[in-house]
Amino acid sequence: MFSHTMMELPLTLTTLHRRMGEVLGHVEVVSRRPDKSFHTTTFGAIAARAEKLARGLLAMGIARGDRVATLMWNHAEHLEAYLGIPLAGAVIHTLNLRLHPDDIAYIANDAADRVLIVDAVLLPLYEKFADKVRFERVIVVGRDYEAFLDAAPPLALPALAESDPLGMCYTSGTTGRPKGVVYSHRSTLLHSLVSALPDSLRLSRSDTLFPVVPMFHVNAWGLPYTAALVGARLAFPGPHLDPVSLLEVMESQHVTIAAGVPTLWLGIREALDKEPARWKLHPGLTMIVGGAAAPERLIRDFDRQGLSLLHAWGMTETSPIGLVSRLPPELDDAPEALRYQLRAKQGVPPPLVEIAIRKDGETPPADGRSSGELLVRAPWVAARYSSNNTPDRWSDDGYFRTGDVAHRDAHGFVQLTDRTADLIKSGGEWIASQELENALMGHPAVREAAVIGLAHPKWSERPLAVVVKKPDAEVTEAELRAYLAEKFIKFWLPDVFVFTDTIPRTSTGKFQKTTLRAQFAGYQWPGTTD
Ligand code: AMP
Repeated sequence: MFSHTMMELPLTLTTLHRRMGEVLGHVEVVSRRPDKSFHTTTFGAIAARAEKLARGLLAMGIARGDRVATLMWNHAEHLEAYLGIPLAGAVIHTLNLRLHPDDIAYIANDAADRVLIVDAVLLPLYEKFADKVRFERVIVVGRDYEAFLDAAPPLALPALAESDPLGMCYTSGTTGRPKGVVYSHRSTLLHSLVSALPDSLRLSRSDTLFPVVPMFHVNAWGLPYTAALVGARLAFPGPHLDPVSLLEVMESQHVTIAAGVPTLWLGIREALDKEPARWKLHPGLTMIVGGAAAPERLIRDFDRQGLSLLHAWGMTETSPIGLVSRLPPELDDAPEALRYQLRAKQGVPPPLVEIAIRKDGETPPADGRSSGELLVRAPWVAARYSSNNTPDRWSDDGYFRTGDVAHRDAHGFVQLTDRTADLIKSGGEWIASQELENALMGHPAVREAAVIGLAHPKWSERPLAVVVKKPDAEVTEAELRAYLAEKFIKFWLPDVFVFTDTIPRTSTGKFQKTTLRAQFAGYQWPGTTD
């Protein structure tokens, strides 16, 4: 028998929490309040309050594995819940406040949430679904939350195993009902560790991290835990998510790294363009962008301002970090065009993440063209859903089937070309809608573009592009078609370009293609009759 001689200290929040108090006690956490003032506290204070929250929950009978929901913006108290709920052995379930109240109720009931911690400013939202849920207790931040902490008796916190559940999130459910994903202590600690690595998101004590991505969207991409682990100072936006408010935080708090979906950075770019001299941001400020594809033009535009977009890919099921697009040193002298092309791809897997691309059971060549479904496995990728099991999402050799269509190039960079469900089948051939969108968003007059497939009497489906122009920009349908014709074969070109003011987005910033398709259902293609 071979055996090792190392300690088996479990990878749990207990050790991270202890470190926050003992080693990182002075690290600041700054939160924007509803009245726009800034509130500053420290890791030390948050660690102490998280412990009180855990003790309060234990005292009211919350047991191991019970679910405790939050309905909160990004701020220090939410971080306390991120720590305190799992320290009690319970599972933090972050409810997405952008969902329809009926959907929030469905998710809270599906998770059997026993307690809700809610921001006072979100009570009107809670009241919209209160009669459809059965929380045993609702604790309101800004009302009785402080009293709840103060009343916590001096109970001992439970010893946790690394396989214990820590938190749960629901998938956005673009197809079918949302499904629960339950993260473990071990998966969360390993995810935090690898996220912080220099070739991943690169976070350290020298940073001020600004997670704009909501703490109810895949745990703000795990960033609060990563910051807590490495000791990065945190700035939280609270409920103020308009570009000017975000720029105010970035400037006044000397933010070095921020994170959010592409729409957010589109808004920031416009605010910077409007008043280029107004803002003094940290030179080299990195903005992590994910959740939807980052257009290459956006990366170029920010570079001109001395700001750097870092493109990453992930899913609720993958905790979420699965790919990060950071250029390796061997490409330092590569032509500028190639460097931008690669940065706009979703990137390469960080350590401990393994990917595969499969089409009909085969691996297509890594030629940057031949695509298949992206598969992924890692210690922080879901092995199943909490209920409503769909085993077909996992391959026989233990990968999660992402439903994303992608190809890989000679540099190992993966690029997503579509969701399997959004591929357009025209005359028996596939058209990748995201590739068309990415190209359209490279046109200087285009702010956003989504491409959908609609039923067509001759071709079964044909692409239609929905385009939002940049403010004050002009472009015609013919110009856009000619622009795309330089890059794509003829049958890929959208038959019609529709100009609109906005494109519907999901609660987590993705184009809502189901809504778009419904909007254009029964569309009469020019020159066709039923
Ligand atoms: P969610 O579980 O809500 O985070 O959604 C995950 C899905 O968002 C992925 O399967 C992708 O389709 C999409 N997604 C996430 N990051 C990116 C990205 N960087 N580029 C393109 N799509 C992305």
